Amino acid sequence: MCVEKIRYFSCGCKKSQGFNQCIARQGTTFKCAPMVKERLPDSSHMCIAHMVKPGKDEMRRP
Ligand SMILES: [Zn+2]
Ligand SMILES: [Zn+2]
Repeated sequence: MCVEKIRYFSCGCKKSQGFNQCIARQGTTFKCAPMVKERLPDSSHMCIAHMVKPGKDEMRRP
């Protein structure tokens, strides 16, 4: 089964970070449905939609 990588952000949003195809699908544009979801280590900052706009200098670095 293909694995979709999901990252959780501190704002509560989760976003797909792409997916890994299983051996059977490699080299194709197909992927299994549904994909296995793999939770990546939580992000310590917010998603791009909730991130402080550049210039405000409030971005937190891990
Ligand atoms: Zn697959
Ligand atoms: Zn967010």
